Amino acid sequence: MPLSDHARENFPYLLREVQAAGARLVAVSKTQPDDKIMALYALGQRDFGENRVSELSEKVRRLPADIRWHYLGNLQRNKVKALLPLAPHLIHSVDSERLLFEIAKVATQQSLTVALLLQFHIAEEETKSGFQLSEAQAALNQWFAAGPKPGLRICGVMGMATNTENDETIATEFKALTKIFKQLKNDFFPTDPSFCEISMGMSGDYPIALEQGSTLVRVGSLLFS
Ligand SMILES: *Cc1c(COP(=O)(O)O)cnc(C)c1O
Repeated sequence: MPLSDHARENFPYLLREVQAAGARLVAVSKTQPDDKIMALYALGQRDFGENRVSELSEKVRRLPADIRWHYLGNLQRNKVKALLPLAPHLIHSVDSERLLFEIAKVATQQSLTVALLLQFHIAEEETKSGFQLSEAQAALNQWFAAGPKPGLRICGVMGMATNTENDETIATEFKALTKIFKQLKNDFFPTDPSFCEISMGMSGDYPIALEQGSTLVRVGSLLFS
């Protein structure tokens, strides 16, 4: 099915809203067919997000090489070897110290460069994964103690708010993520310009995320339907 007229007409407005707030729009294209992705590509969109390594692998093979693929999904350590050669632009979902070090190991073995975000648990739902602040601080202490890792860049933080109609809850959670970003920036990356991203906001809550300082919004259903 091609992209609907409605989606095509809405895209420029959404893009302008995101850009006016100083953020980038990631079009979350998981489960979407190539023709819909290409319709947004034709409108200038280059950042797309996927959450499965197998699906991403197929799409990388079929779709234009200048697409910047963002990996958003839960990432199992045994999938890292398959993911990294696909050269994702940014991995948003690094949610444990073990995963962080597995990525570093595979990147070094394969001489690949990797940019990643640390995912934080900011929502009420237990099902959503991510670091607690103290866990991330411990992981980063290990990270810096282990010495320089050429090619690996930790670029910021990512989080998902609670799925709720309560805008205040969502704003409080996004505010907490921005605070985590600032603390890590201050404690670990004060002179590293790469550590600059706060990935937050989806179809249902991206305006709140933009107000709270998001630099990357990940919008799927709103763009494609
Ligand atoms: C699916 C997904 C999105 C997009 O969700 P929509 O509600 O469709 O905008 C954003 N981030 C992550 C991590 C996702 O898995």
